[in-house]
Amino acid sequence: MQKGANNSYFGNIWEGITSSWQGLKLSFKHIWEARQRRTPIGITDPDYFKQETGIVTLTYPYESLPVPDNGRYRLHNEMEDCIVCDKCAEICPVSCIDIEAVKSTEEIRKTSDGHSVRLYAARFDIDMAKCCFCGLCTTVCPTECLTMTKTYDFSEFDIRDMIYHFSDLSPEQAVEKRQNYETLQTAKQQAKASTTNVQPTEEKTAEQTSTTPATAKPVMKKPAIKPVTKPVITDPTPSISEETPYVTEVTPEISQTIQEAAPQDTKAEETDQSEQAPAKPVMKKPVIKPMIKKKTDE
Ligand code: SF4
Ligand code: SF4
Repeated sequence: MQKGANNSYFGNIWEGITSSWQGLKLSFKHIWEARQRRTPIGITDPDYFKQETGIVTLTYPYESLPVPDNGRYRLHNEMEDCIVCDKCAEICPVSCIDIEAVKSTEEIRKTSDGHSVRLYAARFDIDMAKCCFCGLCTTVCPTECLTMTKTYDFSEFDIRDMIYHFSDLSPEQAVEKRQNYETLQTAKQQAKASTTNVQPTEEKTAEQTSTTPATAKPVMKKPAIKPVTKPVITDPTPSISEETPYVTEVTPEISQTIQEAAPQDTKAEETDQSEQAPAKPVMKKPVIKPMIKKKTDE
C-alpha cells in the first residue's frame, strides 16, 4: 500500500486535507471571479488577451465572438455583377458549383465594374454541404461578385437545403430566354442562306447584261497572213560544163589541177555560204569522160 509524504498514518491524512484545500481554493477563486463576464471581443482586438478573468463561455446563439473580416465561411454571389463566365465552377475542386447559362439576344446589363453581361444564369447552384471553403472560386471571379461571408452558422436539418440557388431567372423565364435566342439564331441562318442564294443570281444577271449588243466588244479579225514565196536564185556563174572545153582525155596534169582546185572550191563555197546565206549556188563538178582512142587500121 502506497503511503503519503510523511510515510505514516497521520501524515497521509494531513496530505489529503492540504491537497483538497488547494483544489477547493482554486474552485472558490473562479466562483468569486464568475461574478463578472468577459466582453465578447474578436481575436484581432488588442485587448483580447487582457481579459484574464471573467466567464469565457458565451450564451450562443444570443451572443457570439466576432469573426475576422477575412473569415471564409458561407459563399454569396451578387448576381447583378455576375457575368456567368463559369470560371468559378471550373476551378472548384469538389465540383459543388453548378451553372447553366442561357445566351441573350442582346446585352442584359452592365456590372458595377463595367463588364458587359450577355448571359442569363438559368441555374447557379452552390452546394455548401460539399464546399471545403478553399476560396478558389472567389479568387478567379473576374467581377469579384462571388465572396465568402462571415456567416458560419448555416446548418440545416435537411441536407438538400444546403444547396443555395442564386439564379435570377425562374424556370419559365429561362425557357423563354432560350427560345428567344434560338429564334434569333434561326432568323440569322435564314438571312445568311438567303444572301448566299441572292449573290449568284446577281452575278448571273451582271454576266447577262455584259453580253448585250450595247456593251459587246468588237471582234478583231486576225490579219490574213499570206505565205511568202522565196525568190528562186539562179546560179549566175556559168556552169563549168558550158565553158570548160570537152576533155576527152584526163592527163596527169589535168588530174593534178583538179585535186588542187577542189579544196579551193570548198573554201569558196564556205565564203559564199557565209556571205549569201539564203542562196546556195550549186557548183557542178566537171564531167570527166574516159578518152576513147581510135583504133587504127592495121
Ligand atoms: S470555396 Fe472552394 S470548394 Fe467551396 S465552392 Fe469555392 S472553390 Fe468550391
Ligand atoms: S466566376 Fe464570378 S462572374 Fe464568373 S460565373 Fe462565377 S460568380 Fe459569376
